Amino acid sequence: AKETGKARCVVYNPQKFNQQEFDVSMEAAMFDAVRNGEFFLHYQPIVDAVTCEVLGYEALMRWMRPELGPVSPSQFIPMAESNGLINLLGAWALRSACMQLKRFQEAAGRPLYVSVNVSPRQFRNEHFLGVIDNALKSSGIVGAELLLEITEGILMSDPEHAEAMLNQISARGVKIAIDDFGTGYSSLAYLKRFPISTLKIDRAFVQDLPASVKDAAICNVVLSLASHLNLTTVAEGVENAEQLAFLSRQGCNLIQGYYTGRPMMPDAAIALLRAGANA
Ligand code: C2E
Ligand code: CA
Ligand code: CA
Ligand code: CA
Repeated sequence: AKETGKARCVVYNPQKFNQQEFDVSMEAAMFDAVRNGEFFLHYQPIVDAVTCEVLGYEALMRWMRPELGPVSPSQFIPMAESNGLINLLGAWALRSACMQLKRFQEAAGRPLYVSVNVSPRQFRNEHFLGVIDNALKSSGIVGAELLLEITEGILMSDPEHAEAMLNQISARGVKIAIDDFGTGYSSLAYLKRFPISTLKIDRAFVQDLPASVKDAAICNVVLSLASHLNLTTVAEGVENAEQLAFLSRQGCNLIQGYYTGRPMMPDAAIALLRAGANA
C-alpha cells in the first residue's frame, strides 16, 4: 500500500542495480543448476571436545557455477527457501548425506552420525516425514545416526505443528539439534516442551573466547543449562586451541570449527577417518 500513487525519487545506484540483475539471473540459474548437478555437499567434522575423535559430520550444501565459481549458501539458501526449490534440494541433501554416512562408517569401522540442516519451509512441507523415511530406508542407516538441525524460529512460529512433527521425528529415533542456539527469537520453555537432544552454540558466542567476559558468561550458562537438561552441546566456529581448551574445560561435549576440520569433500572426510583409525 505504501508504494501506490505517489511518485518516488529514485537515485540511480549502479551497484545496487547490478546486484538485483545478478540475483534475478542467479535465481533462474538455480533451476538449471539442479538439473545440471551443480550442487554437492561438503562435510565438516564434529569432534569430541576432550579426545578430538571425529564422532560425526555436518553436511553443508555447496553450489559451484561453471565459469562463475562458488555461490555462498547464505546467498542461495534464502533464495531456494523463497522459490520453494529448498524442498527438492533439501530432500536430495538428506538422502545423499545418509548414504554418504554409510560409507563413512565403513571407512571408520565404527558408528558415526550425520547432521543435516532443515529449513523452515522443508519442516512445514507435508511430505517431510516421508522424505526422512526415504533417506533412512535407501541408506540403511538407523534413525539415531541422523541429527536434524533446526532453528529456534521453526519452533516459535507454529509450536503446535512443531511439536507434532518433532514427536513423529523422535519416534523414528532421529535426533533434533537447535542450530545457532541463542541467536533467534526464542523462549527457554521450548527446551522442556520439545524432544530436543542437542544445542549448537553459535559462532557469534565463540569467536571472541576466551578473552570476552560476556561471551564466556553466555557459554558457561548455556553449557550448564544443557548439562542439567541432559542435552548434548556442540560449539560452532572454533578456530583456535584457546577456544577449544576453554570450551572443553567448561564441559562442552563436541567441537565443530576450522581448528578441528574445515568442511571438505567426502574423500577427504574418509581419509581423515582412516588416519584416525590407524592412529
Ligand atoms: P550453519 O548451519 O550455522 O553452518 C555453519 C557455518 O559455519 C557453515 O557455513 C560453515 O562452513 C561455517 N563454519 C564452520 N566452522 C567455521 C569456523 O571455524 N569459522 C568460520 N568463520 N565459519 C565456520 P556455510 O557452509 O557457508 O553455510 C552457511 C549456512 O547456510 C549454514 O549455517 C546453514 O544455515 C545454511 N546451509 C548450509 N547447507 C545447508 C543445507 O543443506 N540446508 C539448509 N537448509 N541450509 C544450509
Ligand atoms: Ca547447521
Ligand atoms: Ca549453526
Ligand atoms: Ca551459524
